[in-house]
Amino acid sequence: MIDTDCIFCKIIRGDIPCAKIFETPSVLAFLDIAPVRPGHALVIPKAHHPALWDLPDEDGRDLLAALKIVGRAVVQATGAGGCNVVMNNGAPAGQLVAHAHFHVIPRVRDDGLELWPGTPYADPQAMSRLAEAIRSRI
Ligand code: AMP
Repeated sequence: MIDTDCIFCKIIRGDIPCAKIFETPSVLAFLDIAPVRPGHALVIPKAHHPALWDLPDEDGRDLLAALKIVGRAVVQATGAGGCNVVMNNGAPAGQLVAHAHFHVIPRVRDDGLELWPGTPYADPQAMSRLAEAIRSRI
């Protein structure tokens, strides 16, 4: 499936250039044009699916396999000590390109990037209720 207006579909078709780093029949990985840190890569399915839950299981498996390969290579090539693998799903979560993709962001200790803060539930019952609400939708 291809979306003619999607910028990542255009990259997959070769209509827009990219700094390609890895490719399989179902997955493409290339450097992000506006990296959080140099070496920041994107790993995307070649088929157009907007979000994580839209992905066929087979594409998900292929993406995870590619993430392992690309993640290790990005960490080694940049001399980083680790990486964050991040996926934004939906505009409120910061997804700008509606073609499912994972970010691989190389990290070094004390590099100044902050992860989002965690706050314990004020009401323990609220945590149980939310767990039940989520379970009921699975
Ligand atoms: P997201 O906010 O999760 O949808 O991330 C989309 C990412 O795609 C951003 O980090 C952009 O910098 C990146 N991006 C957009 N256009 C291109 C492009 N032509 N080549 C490489 N990366 C791109």
